[in-house]
Amino acid sequence: MSWYSKIYTRVREIRANNCFLGTILTFCLNIFLVIQILGLFYSMYVYVTITVGYYVQYKAQAIVYLIISTYLFLMTLWSLMRTIFTRPARVPSNYQPSKELQDQLAAVTPYINNRFEADKSTPAQIQSQNVILEEMCRSLNIKVAECDQFGRIKYCYECGHIKPDRTRHCSSCGKCCVKYDHHCPWINTCVTHSNYKYFLCYVCYTTIFVYWFLFTSIEGVVRYFIWQKWMEDLSKIIIYTVLMLFGCVFGYFPLGELVIFHWSLVGYNETTVEQTKPAVLRNDNMADYNMGKSANFEHALGWGLWGCPIESKVSDGMHFDIRYVVLEKNHFIRVSQEIGGPENSANDTPTPTPNDTR
Ligand SMILES: [Zn+2]
Ligand SMILES: [Zn+2]
Repeated sequence: MSWYSKIYTRVREIRANNCFLGTILTFCLNIFLVIQILGLFYSMYVYVTITVGYYVQYKAQAIVYLIISTYLFLMTLWSLMRTIFTRPARVPSNYQPSKELQDQLAAVTPYINNRFEADKSTPAQIQSQNVILEEMCRSLNIKVAECDQFGRIKYCYECGHIKPDRTRHCSSCGKCCVKYDHHCPWINTCVTHSNYKYFLCYVCYTTIFVYWFLFTSIEGVVRYFIWQKWMEDLSKIIIYTVLMLFGCVFGYFPLGELVIFHWSLVGYNETTVEQTKPAVLRNDNMADYNMGKSANFEHALGWGLWGCPIESKVSDGMHFDIRYVVLEKNHFIRVSQEIGGPENSANDTPTPTPNDTR
C-alpha cells in the first residue's frame, strides 16, 4: 500500500467513527488540488499583467500571446474539472453474486486479522474457491478473461463481486474501479475508464501551458537587464524567478514525465497499475490487450477529438479485445479475440482468428 493510500485508509476509519473530524480531514485531502488551481490562476494573472501587459512591446505579439495562453489556460481548467467531477467507473451490480455463493466462498478463504487473505489459501482451498467462482460466473451469466496468479477468477472480498477484466480495487477509495489506472493524490480522485481521457488532456495541457509560460517569459527577464530598472521592476523579477523555477521543476517532473509515460502506456494499451503488475489472462499467460497503435489509442481516447475533454468512449471498460499467442508452423503468432459479454459462459475457451503476425 502506498503512503497516500495509508492516509486515505486512516481518514476513512476516522470518518466512520467521527463524522465531523472525518469530513474535515476528507476535505483536507484536496490540498494539492487547491494548490494547483490557485497556482494555475496566479500564473495566468502574472502572465497577463507582467509578460503581456508590461514586457511585450508589440501589440500583435501581445494579442497572439493572449489568445494562445487563454486557450491553454481554459483547456487546462476544463480538463481538470472534467477529471475531478466525472464519477470514477464502478463495477455494475450484475457482477455481484448471491449472498449464498459469497458465504460459500468466504467459508473456504483464510480470514486473518479481520480480513480475507486469499493469497494464503492452501491448494485444496484454491480448488474449492475456483469451483465456487466458476459457479458465480455461470449464475451471473458473465465471462471474464483475467485470473490471478493462482489461476482463480478475480473476486473482490471487500466489495463482494467478481472483478471485470482490468478492474482493480483502489485501496485509497476502498472500492473497485473499472479499467483502473491509478489513484492520483494530486487531484484527489481515481483515474479510471470514465475519466482517463480527461486526465490525459489535463496533464498535456498543463505541461504545454507551463512550457509556453517559460519560453515566452524569457523576453521579460532579458528586458529587465536591458532596461536596468533594477529597483522599480524588482518585485516583477522576483515573481518571475519564483514562477519560472516552479515551472522548470514541475514542467520536467511530474508533468513532462507523466505525458511521456502515459502516451507510451496508451500505445501499448496498458494502465499504470498493469505496468507494475501485468494482467494475467486465462488459457494464455503471454496474451495481452495490445491491438496495435491506432486501435489502442482509439480504445483509450475514444473515436476522435482526442484533444478535447468531451465524452467519446468506444467501450464500456469491461470487455476487451485480446491478443493470444499460438504456435503455428514453429512460429508464434498473435491472434485476437473479443472476450466477455453477459451471454457467454465463463468456461468457454476462446477460438482465435489469426489477424496479426510477429
Ligand atoms: Zn473492491
Ligand atoms: Zn481511488
